[in-house]
Amino acid sequence: MNKAKIAEVFDSVQGEGIYLGEKQIFVRFFGCNLNCVYCDTKLDRFMEYEPHELVEEIGLYRDKYHSISFTGGEPLLFKDFLKEVLQLTSKGGHRHYLETNGTLVGELEELIEHIDFVAMDLKFPTSSGMGDLWETHKKFLKVAARKEVFLKAIICEGTKEEDLKDAIKLIKEVSPSSILVLQPNSHEDPVFLQKKLAKYKEICKQHKVIACVIPQIHKLTGIK
Ligand code: SF4
Repeated sequence: MNKAKIAEVFDSVQGEGIYLGEKQIFVRFFGCNLNCVYCDTKLDRFMEYEPHELVEEIGLYRDKYHSISFTGGEPLLFKDFLKEVLQLTSKGGHRHYLETNGTLVGELEELIEHIDFVAMDLKFPTSSGMGDLWETHKKFLKVAARKEVFLKAIICEGTKEEDLKDAIKLIKEVSPSSILVLQPNSHEDPVFLQKKLAKYKEICKQHKVIACVIPQIHKLTGIK
């Protein structure tokens, strides 16, 4: 049976990126294929859902929503499950917003026709501790760019400028109109990071990459 591990389903407002404040239904999947040093979504509980069970639960939310946000963890780990769900929820008129770490290229390829918005992480090696993912990110972005995509990168005290330059190179090569959202690590010194982010934004401007600084609001405000 095609089941997925889901940590929670709820409605709230988007707390990150260029759709900040939009009302969404959130489906948070359990588990991830990465292990970023700054990760704070290491969950310990989940429920197993079949596709129709999730669709029924989504149907309980009756307000007007911007989209359904599939988040995690990494939603693409449950590609076959998601395919069934997306087919059903698009029939119900929902739009689909995928929050992803930008690494599971084959899985995205199979689902992209059903996705409307992609919020893709760029894992800077000196921020995430995950090593060099640039080639994987490049392949992923090529697929994501068939739909509306924006990029997010966590900037830490230890982030090196060479990572930003690699990100700029990637964006210019693959999807030059995509916006790069720079997110300060919310557990580190905001004053130090503010200066660094201002400098990074200026570097992006010099290279004609659209960048903005948007903190992860839900962590600052306590909004779920
Ligand atoms: S990709 Fe996201 S969920 Fe996965 S380990 Fe990194 S921060 Fe955590």
